[in-house]
Amino acid sequence: MNVALIAHDAKKELMVQFCIAYCGILSRHNLCATGTTGKLVAEATGLNITRYMSGTQGGGEQITARISCNEIDLLLFFRDPLTVKSNEPNDYDMLRLCDIRGIPVATNIATAEVLIHGLERGDLDWRNIVNPAE
Ligand code: PGA
Repeated sequence: MNVALIAHDAKKELMVQFCIAYCGILSRHNLCATGTTGKLVAEATGLNITRYMSGTQGGGEQITARISCNEIDLLLFFRDPLTVKSNEPNDYDMLRLCDIRGIPVATNIATAEVLIHGLERGDLDWRNIVNPAE
């Protein structure tokens, strides 16, 4: 499965801790991330992560492009809802495309915990078989 990781600045440490906790599961999948998120997670875990541009430089749009091509199976996007972001409309586009494509998304750690266990159990394997958006 292709898993994308993004964390706003206030949530980066949380993302790092989450990835340390679930390193064993994540290591069995193809990971990509926005620049800084990917750097911090890779340094803390040793996980192999394809790093895109930093969020402010278009990294989110690069992941959105992969979502639009149905190349992402799970998005873990730890958002900071308390800080206004200049690229907020782009984040909205990303989440909208996930809904169009039927891609599982977690925007907070509680949902991410549920989805990562689902990923481990193979609950998302149907994505390899059928795409409901097509
Ligand atoms: P970053 O991007 O991982 O490069 O910081 C995430 C974001 O949009 O804040």
